[in-house]
Amino acid sequence: MNQFQYVRATKPQGAIDVVAKDPNAKFIAGGTNLVDLMKRGVMTPQKLVDINRLPFNKIEHQGNTLHIGALALNSTVADDPQVQAAQPLLAKALNAGASAQLRNMATVGGNMLQRTRCSYFYDTTMPCNKREPGTGCGALEGINRMHAIFGFSDKCIAVHPSDMSVALVALDATVLVSGPQGDRRIPMAELHRLPGDTPEKDTNLAPGELITAVGLPDAPFTKHVSYYKVRERASYAFALVSAAAALDLDGTTIKSARLALGGVAHKPWRVQAAEQALVGQPATEASFRRAAEVAMQGAKAFKYNAYKLRLAPNTIVQALRTAAAA
Ligand code: SF4
Repeated sequence: MNQFQYVRATKPQGAIDVVAKDPNAKFIAGGTNLVDLMKRGVMTPQKLVDINRLPFNKIEHQGNTLHIGALALNSTVADDPQVQAAQPLLAKALNAGASAQLRNMATVGGNMLQRTRCSYFYDTTMPCNKREPGTGCGALEGINRMHAIFGFSDKCIAVHPSDMSVALVALDATVLVSGPQGDRRIPMAELHRLPGDTPEKDTNLAPGELITAVGLPDAPFTKHVSYYKVRERASYAFALVSAAAALDLDGTTIKSARLALGGVAHKPWRVQAAEQALVGQPATEASFRRAAEVAMQGAKAFKYNAYKLRLAPNTIVQALRTAAAA
């Protein structure tokens, strides 16, 4: 691991100022991804600004929004009675992520900002435009079993790894950010970006911007929800494909629906066309299959991930089936 300076922040503005002025400085909270990346030489910050003592760990309902501080631990959020009552889809997605030990360390903000698990990104002997722009993409013609089927570019075909973020996108969350230019709100669906020509940028955050909280508007998705994750082990594995599904039912008729996918794109992949296709339909296998067909429009596979073209629609149907039965 390279040498680095460690600073413990006591005030948000102080932390923001340090990181905004120094391109080699990074915020650190749980460190569950960043420390791994530093050990492997994938990221080499020269200064770490520890934000763990900043006052961003509350979970509270304000008006019609559930506010979750960015420093709240994943396990704390998943177990919180307010979250379980108002936003059970979020609790399910959190519990599907990582391992119990990691959920006890990882924060909400860090979970959103974790980097892809593309093996070429982690291997500093291999080309990777995300790690080192301009070197090429090892996965494009390489072992791309885990990679994207939507929204990729010829520069990067990696997928975003967070389960929690898939649920947040489905639930229309808003990310609260403080930065050198003040505070702003970013719709969760716009926090992460597609790779395009600049895959080194995972998000639309400006330099020095710090996520302080996430806000979830109250919604009728408190019962019929499901986070269905297909992975290679029962725990501590990233999604091959996952689906966050939420239904608001009137009897057996779908009044409204939310659907987002993980493991398929460089960002959590909301499929609003499929949501629309469900509205007014009976909550049946046939409706779910039709929605899955709509969701898969435009999907394209690479040499080793063609299985996702079948796995993804099946995952969608299973998530919707489970949500309807909940
Ligand atoms: Fe790097 Fe993206 Fe290609 Fe993986 S898919 S090697 S992260 S550029």
